Amino acid sequence: MATSGTSGGETDARAEGGAVGAPAVAARRLLHGAALVAVLAGLAIAGGSAETVRPNVLLISIDSLRADHLHTYGYARETSPVIDRIAREGVRFEAAISPSSWTLPAHVTLLTGTPPELHGLTDPRRRLDASTRTLAEVLRENGYATAAFVSGPFLRSLYGYGRGFEVWDDVLAQKSKQDAHRGVTSPALVQRVDAWLDEWGAAGPRRPFFLFVHMWDVHYDYDPPPPYDTMFDPDYAGDVDGTDFETGARVHRRMEPRDLEHVIALYDGEIRFTDAWVGKLLSRLQRLGVLDDTIVVVTSDHGDEFFEHGNKGHAKALYDETVRVPLVLRHPRRVPAGRVVEEQVRLADVAPTILGLAGVPAPKDFGTAADTAHREQDLSAWLVGERSDFPELLAFGETSRAGPPKRFARSRGEKYIEQARGRPRAELYDLDGDPGETKDLAVGPQPPPSRLREAAEAWKRQWSRVESRGRPVELDPELEQQLRALGYLK
Ligand SMILES: [Zn+2]
Repeated sequence: MATSGTSGGETDARAEGGAVGAPAVAARRLLHGAALVAVLAGLAIAGGSAETVRPNVLLISIDSLRADHLHTYGYARETSPVIDRIAREGVRFEAAISPSSWTLPAHVTLLTGTPPELHGLTDPRRRLDASTRTLAEVLRENGYATAAFVSGPFLRSLYGYGRGFEVWDDVLAQKSKQDAHRGVTSPALVQRVDAWLDEWGAAGPRRPFFLFVHMWDVHYDYDPPPPYDTMFDPDYAGDVDGTDFETGARVHRRMEPRDLEHVIALYDGEIRFTDAWVGKLLSRLQRLGVLDDTIVVVTSDHGDEFFEHGNKGHAKALYDETVRVPLVLRHPRRVPAGRVVEEQVRLADVAPTILGLAGVPAPKDFGTAADTAHREQDLSAWLVGERSDFPELLAFGETSRAGPPKRFARSRGEKYIEQARGRPRAELYDLDGDPGETKDLAVGPQPPPSRLREAAEAWKRQWSRVESRGRPVELDPELEQQLRALGYLK
């Protein structure tokens, strides 16, 4: 299998973490000696049976997938039968919030549990420094086989957050300028994952796996293959389609509503198409006999806007169209089926929660690694029913990709957004009464007081004292060209 950007050798197995059944010393040797793989695998096998002590982990990120376009989140169209089933058989998080509205910072948060203010990948020309621990490093040190299959330019290995993955396959993320947004990638992606699972299945006594799969097709352009291209709008007779969505002029805020409806139907078609490929991944795990021994998590990095607030695409604003993402989790061995978590959670909570459910203690230097306010949380105790007092988690986020930098603070029922530089501007929304963020309560002579304004201030102060861990990186010309074609570099 062709792979690139694997980061073997950079991982430093550490003693802390108290690995259950996989001593850190063995983990360290694992990185250097294939013979010890079998020894470690033996330690992870219960009573000589083929049942692994630790669950596998399949973490799927579907790029640009907004929560409110999934049927399980109340969308009228049947866009997501597979994801709906995962939610039914596991848990659905009603309000999962991304720390940004674009790909790079959100994914680094997902895979490290650190906020953009700390990991520092808030610019396409920054890479992760070596001091930030990744979820993959921790799982690998605890006996996991780790592999990632990714398909978008901000997932390229040069960004450095693939550290800890034995395989970081970004072949599909290196496609040509045109393919960067027009190509269909899910079939090839799943084929590559399948080949890896073949090797994993054939390896004898099994190490549990951590698989990260990043799916790209929902990302613009919206050009799903048949039958998904006509599935949700079969009667459309116009000539607007979902190509050149971001960079072309045909999709604009004053376009014919009927044409915009069609563009949205194509977006929904991409979702249904991708959902089917998620289903193929799960079927594969079922055939391997490991589906129920696998923690399956499906989420996204951000959504897309369709002019609800005047913009199209993502990265420009911080309304819920782009920062409220789907999050469903299935782990039938420990997490009861059918739960809906109404409380707010953050993408930063995913990594510590996976460690918690897997029974892998988080090392002291994992995540924010300090007793900071609103830091990431391991939610596993609530998911398995050991605790019931679900905490209130405030979410924070930022984007500085288009226009003046913006940041937000969000509770379950309220959202505060401010423009950080330039003409000062603050917005405040009552999400309970106005989930579409249409009535800005900060406008008017007497804006109501908001604890989120203070919380946003405190969050900013907290991180202004900490050095960001992003380091400059040279983009190769091909990647620059890809990013330009997507409208990500001017
Ligand atoms: Zn993205």
